[in-house]
Amino acid sequence: MAEEESLGFRDFGLDPRILQAVADLGWERPTPIQEKAVPLALDGKDLLARARTGSGKTAAYALPLLQRLLLLKATGPAVEQAVRGLILVPTKELAQQAQTMVQQLTTYCARDIRVANISASEASASQRAVLMEKPDVVVGTPSRVLHHLQQDNLKLRDSLELLVMDEADLLFSFGFEEELKSLLCHLPRIYQAFLMSATFNEDVQALKELVLHNPVTLKLQESQLPGPDQLEQFQVVCETEEDKFLLLYALLKLSLIRGKSLLFVNTLERSYRLRLFLEQFSIPSCVLNGELPLRSRCHIISQFNQGFYDCVIATDAEVLGATIKGKRRSKGPKGDQASGDPEAGVARGIDFHHVSAVLNFDLPPTPEAYIHRAGRTARANNPGTVLTFVLPAEQSHLGRMEALLGGEPGTPLLLPYQFRMEEIEGFRYRCRDAMRSVTKQAVREARLKEIKDELLHSEKLKTYFEDNPRDLQLLRHDLPLHPAVVKPHLGNVPDYLVPSALRGFVHPHKKRKKPSSSKKTKKKTQNPLRSFKHRARPRPAVKTS
Ligand code: AMP
Repeated sequence: MAEEESLGFRDFGLDPRILQAVADLGWERPTPIQEKAVPLALDGKDLLARARTGSGKTAAYALPLLQRLLLLKATGPAVEQAVRGLILVPTKELAQQAQTMVQQLTTYCARDIRVANISASEASASQRAVLMEKPDVVVGTPSRVLHHLQQDNLKLRDSLELLVMDEADLLFSFGFEEELKSLLCHLPRIYQAFLMSATFNEDVQALKELVLHNPVTLKLQESQLPGPDQLEQFQVVCETEEDKFLLLYALLKLSLIRGKSLLFVNTLERSYRLRLFLEQFSIPSCVLNGELPLRSRCHIISQFNQGFYDCVIATDAEVLGATIKGKRRSKGPKGDQASGDPEAGVARGIDFHHVSAVLNFDLPPTPEAYIHRAGRTARANNPGTVLTFVLPAEQSHLGRMEALLGGEPGTPLLLPYQFRMEEIEGFRYRCRDAMRSVTKQAVREARLKEIKDELLHSEKLKTYFEDNPRDLQLLRHDLPLHPAVVKPHLGNVPDYLVPSALRGFVHPHKKRKKPSSSKKTKKKTQNPLRSFKHRARPRPAVKTS
């Protein structure tokens, strides 16, 4: 049987300026969601698409949106300038991400198509000025868009042609329900709409009824994660909590995990504990948590993406808790995440680039949490690895999760990552020493210190860096917090500690000085665990199966 030819970007009949931008991004072929969604969208269909994070769904809606706008503009100068595209997202970070993607795709037609992000709550006046210019596309959270509609800064009734609701399941679960309903009253009767969602739940069903007309439903991937060719998933059983710390220390210090990694823990307290623990060994890391100001969080992500940091510690508890338990946002003032700002999502949907490994240092509480964590790696067509640490008492929970995630009985989804702990026994003394130094008090102080520092940074970021954008690179978030005493000798790994089978293969973690270029990072990040597996095969100290 002849293999079905897959479509290329050129087959979509897109404007050459868009195609040039796509080529500049280095995208060789459309991802499956793009391949299905773009032709249907260009055909004028409403779409309900289930697309896992990292599937390329932003471009799947942005490409047809831009094509439509360019076509319209090509009909002549008589076309009145107006807001014709609206992209609704649940968080400010996602808004920034969507805006960046649209801007990248409009590199060669930036004069024809302007995009504005109105998700920041503190910039109402400047947003009003931007909206007066009638950008072609507006990106925002429902509450901010509604605010501007109510203030008459934004008018859509006579001009909107295309509405996108991205991460639609979160749009409802964050409690934007009322705002969305009010917002819809400001839209025209007819417009094309796309609803993109990681899951199809009741909330999405309700949204579908509200906004879509005879939609085509695209459920591209039954499994919400890529297959084993692209994403390797392991579990490693650690006998004790101390073993988890020991193993992580050894994996990072011996560079067995290379490239960029995301470490997931279940509480904020744990994230700082881990950061201080790693700091003891001069392993720099950043904590990404919802209490930090938005600018700092975005800056951390952006620097991580540029290769400044190799290791980010994230907690998804607030965001996923709100989503999965179906909790609704309580009505009230919309401060920042310190007060539980629902628009300040951290892990979900945020685009970390070229993450080679996701480490579940703490077992994800639910299968959904697992999927969303794992979805940070193996994005688009890149490979990735997920390593889940599990304590003996948690194994049955993990087994149940695996079953829900679609693992076949008898063929586990998460392969055992057999690590010979005895090979790293030499590290245990240092590990204990470091764990002892990270007291509750030290964790509390670190957390407060970081918030204070980041608030200062945030202000600096706002004023100073607006005028000096190049200096933004100088501000780092992975500098030692130092509330615990750091013993400098712990930063080195003497040769006698390196497992014999690994001598000559591994180079104990060295502090990164310069960000690597994205190309370099990509090369480095390709399946580090797999490459270790091959290298170590003759005399494996760490055996993966
Ligand atoms: P998204 O699912 O929209 O968050 O996209 C995830 C990542 O995939 C982003 O970094 C995009 O730049 C990238 N991406 C989107 N489409 C493609 C493509 N066709 N080929 C390669 N990378 C892509």
